[in-house]
Amino acid sequence: MISDLFFYQLLLVGLLWLCLMLHGMWPSERVMPGSTRPPPPLPPRKRSSDPQPFPGLTRTPPCGACEQAHEHVPQPPGCPPPRIVPTRGRRRQVDTSRHFCPDPDCLYGGWLGLGNIRANGHPSGGPWRQLYCTDCGGSFQETHGTPLHGKRVVPERLVWAVGALAEGLGIRAVARVFEVDPNTVREWLVEVADHAAAFSQYFLHDVRVTQVQLDELFALLSAVQAGEVSEAAAITRLSRAPHWVWAALDPVTKLLLTVEVGDRTLAMAQRVVHQVVQVLAPGCVPLFLTDGFTEYTTALLTHYGQWVQPPRRQDKGPAPKPRWMPLPGLLYAQVIKTVRRRRLVRVTHRVVFGTLEAIQQVLAACGWQINTAFVERLNLTIRQHGAAVGRRVSTLCKGEDGVRQQLALYHMYSNFCLPHTSVRQPLPRPEPTHGTGSAKRWQPQTPAMAAGLTDHVWTLREVLLFRVPPWPQPVQV
Ligand SMILES: [Zn+2]
Repeated sequence: MISDLFFYQLLLVGLLWLCLMLHGMWPSERVMPGSTRPPPPLPPRKRSSDPQPFPGLTRTPPCGACEQAHEHVPQPPGCPPPRIVPTRGRRRQVDTSRHFCPDPDCLYGGWLGLGNIRANGHPSGGPWRQLYCTDCGGSFQETHGTPLHGKRVVPERLVWAVGALAEGLGIRAVARVFEVDPNTVREWLVEVADHAAAFSQYFLHDVRVTQVQLDELFALLSAVQAGEVSEAAAITRLSRAPHWVWAALDPVTKLLLTVEVGDRTLAMAQRVVHQVVQVLAPGCVPLFLTDGFTEYTTALLTHYGQWVQPPRRQDKGPAPKPRWMPLPGLLYAQVIKTVRRRRLVRVTHRVVFGTLEAIQQVLAACGWQINTAFVERLNLTIRQHGAAVGRRVSTLCKGEDGVRQQLALYHMYSNFCLPHTSVRQPLPRPEPTHGTGSAKRWQPQTPAMAAGLTDHVWTLREVLLFRVPPWPQPVQV
């Protein structure tokens, strides 16, 4: 009995001791002396919403276009030969300064305005003038190297058909309107697209802009040919291999810097940014505005970056490795749209490179906020003008090449031929019209004129007859 009592006492002491020990070891439950309630729980650790400074990359991101770019830029073969000044005969009436000798073996071949080209009249009453080179004695037609060369069709008909294509009529529709075979129209489009691309490349260089908007639009490159594949099947196939039309636009002059077709990948983003850099003047670093597609950041960083040596943090140890950082002048912001159930629910802005103040300062010159509205509007225009890019259309021109040709035509047409309302210039004094209409008050301007690349609105006929020189010509004094 005594041992029982002793046992219970021992057990009680043991339990008390255990309670005390546990109480002492439990840190969170401990009540501070002097305080009546427990301290508030620590706030959960939140990720900072402030933009972190870009840490830099340890290596330059590769750009496929940069690696193979050098052989594509045409270069003059050296200094131009001396100018030929005619010493005999009457003054020449026909201006041949836009023509060059097409013979690659001729000393004057490819050079403009050196006085070696003479007009020879219209042999056997043909529509085109004959020209000849006084240096090599070779003669050629004034349409040499243009899409109008060697065509039996009436020139006006070809020009109008190309105009209809540029305005967005499909190949079959153009064939019906102009009563030619659809395959003929497709051949014209192929030739004209090559010409338009060369024309654009010849004029679009050393462009100075303050802003560039970049965007991709989904292109339905359907393979729907009469009875071949159903439209539904084509869409299913496309959802696996989507194609995108990429566009870069200067919102101030509305100049379309580049248009491309391809996937929505880093390689394409690199290619598009690379082409923008090719078009811009050296040292011109504009403000870039895009949607939230992340690969733009890398693509911009590739072309607008430099190696920076970070400062040492401690005295000992090796110096930190150099980092690839954006150029100090590079400004880049994203417009991120949240779409839920096909409805736009939120638009947020994200400054990626540079400061918000610097970006707002560039935009304030035009009275704008951060936006990508202009390039998005352009997407709609491209859909209207390029039949192959429009939704659910069945034209002959539907492969990736077809879209590329339509876009090359549209790229040239919108920059050089289409006057844009927002860049028109007021006339010094209104010009009265011959009819009963109100006086003409505006001088029409194309984006290329606004950007200072050309001095007039080009007609399609002029563009199609323009012989693109094989290399950039020196500025004539
Ligand atoms: Zn020659």
